[in-house]
Amino acid sequence: GAGKGTQAAYLRDQWGLTHISTGDILRAEVAQGTALGAAAHDYMQRGELVPDALIIRMMAERLALLGAAAGYVLDGFPRTAPQAEALDAMLARIGHRLDGVINLEVERTELIRRLSGRRVCPNCSAIYHVETMPPRDAGICDACGAALIQRKDDQPAAIANRLEVYVAATQPLIDYYAARGMLVTIDGTIGVPAVAEAIRAALCGGA
Ligand code: AMP
Repeated sequence: GAGKGTQAAYLRDQWGLTHISTGDILRAEVAQGTALGAAAHDYMQRGELVPDALIIRMMAERLALLGAAAGYVLDGFPRTAPQAEALDAMLARIGHRLDGVINLEVERTELIRRLSGRRVCPNCSAIYHVETMPPRDAGICDACGAALIQRKDDQPAAIANRLEVYVAATQPLIDYYAARGMLVTIDGTIGVPAVAEAIRAALCGGA
């Protein structure tokens, strides 16, 4: 709800980066009925985190497939301290370097408004909001014409759970990356292009 998916797609389009979203990968696994999808499904619907061991194995396989020169943006990973430590080890193994870690800050009431109004395309993962970013035709994806859906975990009980899980499991990563000098904190409420520009400036210097 802070805009990480929207920003990651923007960076993909602007910079030609590969966009790797753990949420999108997991939703595709669920839709395809794989063993990983079956294991992840209930956690996701409740707004809980999928166990670290599953996520770490999934991401190690995914990152190992990337070419050495490829730039990429990790969206939604790492989300726990063990995942962050595993990411360090994966990157060291394949010789990749993390350029920075983006922390998008948005206050709780705004997050709830965003998540509860969000609609997504089940076909191409495009993201809309019923008030602030509606599609041209109500309920239809601008990009591919599929019927938009509301994610189960964007319903009120799951939203509350996700915010609690964020505070307990993910927020500690702010200190983890700040201590390594990698953290860039950006106000997530200044608009999509302005957030994207702030990310670009932070990662590239003024270049
Ligand atoms: P997202 O699309 O990033 O909001 O992710 C949707 C859901 O997928 C989360 O609420 C979790 O259930 C699961 N998920 C995504 N990324 C992770 C992760 N790194 N670790 C554990 N669960 C994850």
